[in-house]
Amino acid sequence: MKAFVMKEIGRVGLLDKPTPRPGPLDAIVRTAAALICTSDSHTVAGGIGPREDLTLGHEAVGTVHEVGSEVRDFRPGDRVLVGAITPDWGDAASQNGFPSQSGGPLGGFKFANSKDGVFAEYFHVNHADANLAKIPDGVSDEAAVYCADMLSTGFMGAEHGDIPMGGTVAVLAQGPVGLMATAGARLLGAGLVIGVESVPARQKLARAYGADEIVDFTKEDVVERVLELTGGQGVDTAIEALGADATFQTAVKVVKPGGTVSNVGYYGEGEFVRIPRVEWGVGMADKTIASGLCPGGRLRMERLLRMLETKRVDPTRMTTHRFSFDEMERAFEVADKKLEDVVKVLITF
Ligand SMILES: [Zn+2]
Repeated sequence: MKAFVMKEIGRVGLLDKPTPRPGPLDAIVRTAAALICTSDSHTVAGGIGPREDLTLGHEAVGTVHEVGSEVRDFRPGDRVLVGAITPDWGDAASQNGFPSQSGGPLGGFKFANSKDGVFAEYFHVNHADANLAKIPDGVSDEAAVYCADMLSTGFMGAEHGDIPMGGTVAVLAQGPVGLMATAGARLLGAGLVIGVESVPARQKLARAYGADEIVDFTKEDVVERVLELTGGQGVDTAIEALGADATFQTAVKVVKPGGTVSNVGYYGEGEFVRIPRVEWGVGMADKTIASGLCPGGRLRMERLLRMLETKRVDPTRMTTHRFSFDEMERAFEVADKKLEDVVKVLITF
């Protein structure tokens, strides 16, 4: 089968690989659609170190091709969503309620990390009964594939933010995860959602997903503007959806005492992420800092798919580019170099 791999740091390409086989609890999925993620770029840039011929990708839907002897609920031919995070479920972190950390910090993140990813004609899924979800008939592959990571991670940012009904939320950066955090905050009952973003196309999407106000950090001071919009109080929840030291500091500054900084950003460089001392109340401002990796699991994926089925949110507005798997090298270049106002690149197989 054909797979799109990282040949070495900074170099990608298509490669022939053997079709994987399932263990007793596993499934092999024939890929139907996938999305390119900024995490794929981090990986190719060397974020997890050198990986020779590792298949990239972790956001996919497809059809079950083969299942192991112990798989109960899935059969060949089932249309399925596959979580970007595929925990092993039996370990202590999973039993403790944090399956994305199974097998060590971020250990549930296996695709294109500790095993081959989903940018291939077929891929392997461990613990199929817990890591797959059937896609309802009325939900397209294109909509469902957003639940693998973008919608799940963005919504997690809102869920971890402890947003009061009618509360105020600032979402720092409106990339795909930030956009879904904006949509999630609105769905959870926020009374005011402030999107921080400078790119016009993303500002427009942010408004479509529920941002009431847009703050352009290239034109105004974000902290001043957020305080102004909240009558000097600051927001109940600040969601950091970029992963930059300066943005994280802004998040701490704009949150009111008793509020929550919910972090979904990935910090790929530097030794520290700094907390602004004074605005953190010299350590005593009752500001909570929450963090998490996209939760895995079938039940969560089924809940997210239900929200697509009942049309609570339409993630497909984020698809700016479409390519076939044969055009993968060009597709990756567009996503990696952020060409042509790209938000998300959809690959069909
Ligand atoms: Zn992703």
